[in-house]
Amino acid sequence: MSTITADWITTPPTRAVCDALGAEGAQVLFVGGCVRNTLLGAPVSDIDIATDAMPDQVIALARAAGLKAVPTGIEHGTVTLLSGGVPHEVTTFRRDVGTDGRHAQVVFSNDVAEDAARRDFTMNAIYARPDGTIVDPLDGMPDLVARRVRFIGEAADRIREDYLRSLRYFRFHAWYGDPDAGFDPEALAAIARNLDGLARLSRERIGAEIRKLLFAPDPAPSVATMRATGALACFIPGADDQALAPLVHLEKTARLPANWLCRLAVLGGTDPVGALRLSRAEAASLGRLRDAAGAMTGAAELGYRLGAEEACSALLIRCALVGQPWNDAARDDIEQGASARFPVRARDLMPRFQGPALGAELARLETLWLESGFRLDRAALLAG
Ligand code: ATP
Ligand code: MG
Repeated sequence: MSTITADWITTPPTRAVCDALGAEGAQVLFVGGCVRNTLLGAPVSDIDIATDAMPDQVIALARAAGLKAVPTGIEHGTVTLLSGGVPHEVTTFRRDVGTDGRHAQVVFSNDVAEDAARRDFTMNAIYARPDGTIVDPLDGMPDLVARRVRFIGEAADRIREDYLRSLRYFRFHAWYGDPDAGFDPEALAAIARNLDGLARLSRERIGAEIRKLLFAPDPAPSVATMRATGALACFIPGADDQALAPLVHLEKTARLPANWLCRLAVLGGTDPVGALRLSRAEAASLGRLRDAAGAMTGAAELGYRLGAEEACSALLIRCALVGQPWNDAARDDIEQGASARFPVRARDLMPRFQGPALGAELARLETLWLESGFRLDRAALLAG
């Protein structure tokens, strides 16, 4: 019997949750990303727990143990238990009985095998008891070891229950699939035959998955395959992934960390902000990156206008889009620009200039200063 060991299982907050839930004999099983990633030796970001205790019982057990219980998704059986400030998402075993393609209608169950069957991929339906013992009702382990992302049941049926699974397929493939083994032709055919339902998905859900997909070490093969099935155009109308693989390659050459917004920027699209419901800050950053990448502005000026980090990103995107190599010397120019301070202030020009004329004169002097390579000082600029 295999077991897992990991720090997150034995920390007091997680122990307290397991002890509380199991106090009256309920089953307590870790499931999903925490088990999958521990088996793969990958970092664990959040802890999901499945149990046969009913949601109101979960709340009562938690409160009896002095833990805070927040009914975050009570209608589908999820209660978040806060222990030592760490959230633990506890979901009662479920069995799907119907769906409208977006929301599963569920009934609670006391059978872990039924709970496993309503999950998406075999590698996501591996459970572990609090002592680390693996419970694997659907034989997910061989798929995980082979890094095979396999739908539970018939791919087409599972996609029609929840169309987001098409996108999740590409997300999990990018992170955990074997890049050399390629994609399962049956899964791809099922995705390609069921594009109609993608339009019904909420943009928030699509945005959250695309974000995670584009954060993968190398999302390019998944995105290229997504394009080939026709799904990319459904998620981000007008997107083109031609520059994505070059960008991922350039990130390595330039030793820059993966940045999902840069990756999104090279995909283009008619309205990525609306299609993925980006936050205001993300939308603004994407706009700046795309404008700067598409302009002729030199590296130093980019650094001055955007700061070092965003300027590097913009330059990287530009290289990817036009098929140019990364030039490390640009980094010095960017740094120089990022630390340069325009020496003229509005008050230096007053009262000679007022209102719009003042703005225009400041802009003219700033251009002169930029063209001088930041060399003209305050006196020279005011004299000129
Ligand atoms: P991550 O590391 O990104 O958190 P995860 O596998 O935990 O990966 P979540 O989106 O947090 O992914 O979902 C937790 C688990 O819930 C999944 O592993 C899967 O078993 C199940 N699940 C989530 N979304 C779906 C879905 N749309 N259809 C079926 N099962 C799902
Ligand atoms: Mg998770």
